[in-house]
Amino acid sequence: MATYRVTLIPGDGTGPELTEATRRVLEAALGTVGGSFDWDVQEAGVDIMETAGTPLPPATLDSIKRNKVAIKGPITTPIGTGFRSVNVALRAELELYACVRPCKTYPGVRSRFDNIDVMIIRENTEDLYAGIEYEQGTADAASVIEFLNGKQKKQIRPDSGVSIKPISVFGSERIIRYAFDYARANGRKRVHCIQKSNIMKFTDGLFLSVFRDVAKDYPDIDAWENLVDATCMGLIQRPEEWDVLALPNLYGDILSDLTAGMVGGLGVAPGANIGADAAVFEATHGSAPKYKGLNKVNPTAMILSGMLMLRHLGELAAADNLESAVATVLGEGRNVTYDMKPNRDDPTAVGTSEYADALISTLQEASS
Ligand code: NAD
Repeated sequence: MATYRVTLIPGDGTGPELTEATRRVLEAALGTVGGSFDWDVQEAGVDIMETAGTPLPPATLDSIKRNKVAIKGPITTPIGTGFRSVNVALRAELELYACVRPCKTYPGVRSRFDNIDVMIIRENTEDLYAGIEYEQGTADAASVIEFLNGKQKKQIRPDSGVSIKPISVFGSERIIRYAFDYARANGRKRVHCIQKSNIMKFTDGLFLSVFRDVAKDYPDIDAWENLVDATCMGLIQRPEEWDVLALPNLYGDILSDLTAGMVGGLGVAPGANIGADAAVFEATHGSAPKYKGLNKVNPTAMILSGMLMLRHLGELAAADNLESAVATVLGEGRNVTYDMKPNRDDPTAVGTSEYADALISTLQEASS
C-alpha cells in the first residue's frame, strides 16, 4: 500500500477552503485502492507575505523540490506591491515547462457543447511570454529598433514597443515529446500541432518542423497540423474531432481559456504544471477573494487537478474512481455548489464542504 509525500499549499482567498475539500476527497479516492497521503503543508500567498516578507518562502520551494509533487490552492497576485506572481515564480523556479489542461464535458455541467474531451498541452517558458520586451520611448527600444532596421528592408516605426518571440528547438522538442508521451500513456489517438507557420516561418515554422521530426518516433499516434485560427473555428464547429493539442505558449494560453469556456467554465477547469523534476497541480481559476470564508465556491477544478495528480503518481484506478464520483455527483445535480445549479440563486445549492462530503460518500459507496 503506497503512501505519497506531497506538498500541499492551501494558498489564500478561497484557497484554504478549496484545498481542505480537495484534501479530504483525495484521501478518500486514494483510500479506495488502499493508498494514503503524507501531506507536507506549506504556505504561499498574501497571508504568509505579512509574516515571512515574501509570498513564496524558500521552505515552500524546498518542499516541492524535495517531494517533486505539489497541489496548491489559488494564490492572489497583489497589485502594486512589487511582488511578482507566485504562480509565475513557481513555474520559473521549478522549470515547469508543460502546462496541461484537460477540457472535458461532464453531464450536469451546463455548457453549449457535448462530448468534448480535449487535452491542451501548452509550452510554458518561451514565445511572446518569455518576458523579453522593450518599452516604447526607452533607449533600449530605440537601440533594438535601430539594430533591426539596419538588418532589414521592412522598417519598424521608431515609436514602437517591441516584444520578442523566441521559440527554440529544445523547448519545442520538450513540449511536443511530452504531448506524444501523454497521448501514448493515456490511450489517445492523435496529437495536433497548433501554430501559424504560414506567417511566422522561423518561430511557429520551427515548432512545426520539430513536430514533424518528433512524430516519426510515434507511428502509433496520428500527427495533425492545424493553424491556430482555423483551430478556433474547428473547435467550435466540430469539437469532438480534437484530441491532444500541443501549442506554443501564447496560443496555449488563449485556447485553454476557449476550451475551458466550452466545457462549463473556470469552476470545472483543472490544470497541472509539469517539469522534468517537479509537478504542481492547481485549478485554472484564481482565488475568488470576494467569496473567501463563505464555504460557497466550487472545488471541482481543484479536485480534478488532484485527479490529474493521482494519474501522475501512477494511481490510475484511484483517479478513475474519483473522476466517476465527480461525474456522478455533478450528473445528479443535487449536492452541487451554486454555480452548477441552473439558477445561481437556487437555495438547494450546497457549500464547498458539503459537495466534498457528497463525493466522499459516493467514493465510499462505490468501493464498498
Ligand atoms: P478568479 O478566477 O478568482 O475569479 C473570476 C470569476 O470566477 C469570479 O467571478 C469568481 O467568483 C469566479 N470563480 C472563480 N473560481 C470559482 C470557483 N471555484 N467556484 C465558483 N466561482 C468561481 O479570477 P480573478 O478575480 O481575476 O483573480 C483573483 C486573484 O486570483 C487575482 O489576484 C489573480 O492574480 C489570482 N489568480 C491566481 C491564479 C492561481 O493561483 N493559479 C490563477 C488566476 C488568477
